Amino acid sequence: MAVASFYFYAELNDFLPRHQKQVRISHFFGERASIKDMIEALGIPHPEVYSIEVNGEYVNFSYIVQDGDTINVYPISARSFDKPSISVLPKPLSVIRFVLDIHLGKLATSLRLLGFDTLYRNDYEDEELANISYSQTRIILTRDRGLLMRSLVTHGYYVRNTDPQQQILEVLQRFDLFKVVSPFQRCLRCNGLLEPVDKQAITEQVPETVRSQIDEFNRCQDCGQIYWKGSHYERLQRFIDGVIESRRVE
Ligand SMILES: [Zn+2]
Repeated sequence: MAVASFYFYAELNDFLPRHQKQVRISHFFGERASIKDMIEALGIPHPEVYSIEVNGEYVNFSYIVQDGDTINVYPISARSFDKPSISVLPKPLSVIRFVLDIHLGKLATSLRLLGFDTLYRNDYEDEELANISYSQTRIILTRDRGLLMRSLVTHGYYVRNTDPQQQILEVLQRFDLFKVVSPFQRCLRCNGLLEPVDKQAITEQVPETVRSQIDEFNRCQDCGQIYWKGSHYERLQRFIDGVIESRRVE
């Protein structure tokens, strides 16, 4: 039996069982394996890894682990550590777009509300999610680490929080999106872009009581849903203000 010693930094410990958190792990192995496979066998999905150091040298995912190796694995937040490193991450995306797994419907609505291009359906299969992420270079957000371990997935993130309000904060923080929030640009129902629409053109679709009080309307270019700033709007606006405020007081 060969053995390699692993240490996982910071939030990578979220994926380890209690007895393996924040300690050096001796991992015994019989077969030749890449470091990527070995890290995932220990429970950490590869898109969460920023860099890997073996015996003091940075390696990529295809490195074959040797008997006696001492391995340090750093998370995405390592970018802000004050140390030079060679990352295993793919090039950062120039446009941030998401595809969400079926359990994150409320998070999908919040992301759309804040203007982010977010695909979501409550019947996506794992394979389909991985394919969409790959072919459209979208970041997968999920609470299913098996999905993130699929080889097709290069950009993905395991959402730690279960509360939807906390989830939106977590995602804005992780991808540094507070500065690019742009509310009321997208349809909450289908992710389509909204455009202003003339009040006269939508008399059939909006109740008289609304038309008598509201003058500005937007329409989804894809599904035709009409949006206006009613009581619903105020609730959403408060939510958005709350999100931005919570960032400011940190
Ligand atoms: Zn729509």
